[in-house]
Amino acid sequence: SIYGDYIKSVIRTVPDWPQSGVNFRDITPLLQNSAAFRKLIDSFVHRYQEMDIDAVAAIDARGFIVGAPLAYELGCSFVPVRKKGKLPFKTISETYTLEYGEAEVELHSDAFREGDRILVVDDLIATGGTMLAAAKLITRTGGHVVETAAIVDLPDLSGSQRIRDAGYSVFSVCS
Ligand code: IMP
Repeated sequence: SIYGDYIKSVIRTVPDWPQSGVNFRDITPLLQNSAAFRKLIDSFVHRYQEMDIDAVAAIDARGFIVGAPLAYELGCSFVPVRKKGKLPFKTISETYTLEYGEAEVELHSDAFREGDRILVVDDLIATGGTMLAAAKLITRTGGHVVETAAIVDLPDLSGSQRIRDAGYSVFSVCS
């Protein structure tokens, strides 16, 4: 993408966090840098402004950081996709498998209308499990997933390929 190399240069890698052997990609330096944060949001706005997006569905919690300004700029709805047990109204949920155990993402049943064009956003795609669960949940609820988008894709983990294999389009600002 246009600012991909620049955005990548302001993401920090923290070795051995949260556990030994993991290189955690930390976006807080990007968020601290107002010019970088603006370029990040502009990258998404540029890509989606002509795509008739009805709602940005953002994944709890770092997806919210990108999703809210993006929905504001696109002039569309903001829909939180939350971790289990956080949403107060009637919910629909999707369970997915983690390396150890299971996780669940939830949506309000009235979050959008049948056939709405939805963009799903998160900060990062690793195994793709979280993004894929969110996309499937939106599809089950009657939404049309236009694309799944992240700031960072970790291609070595093949998550984006897995999401594409399930029939969804994937975009990332950098890899
Ligand atoms: P996945 O489900 O394996 O693709 O993991 C992606 C989810 O875990 C996203 O919601 C990310 O916020 C989080 N995540 C996994 N690894 C990292 C990382 O290195 N940096 C930031 N978030 C991460």
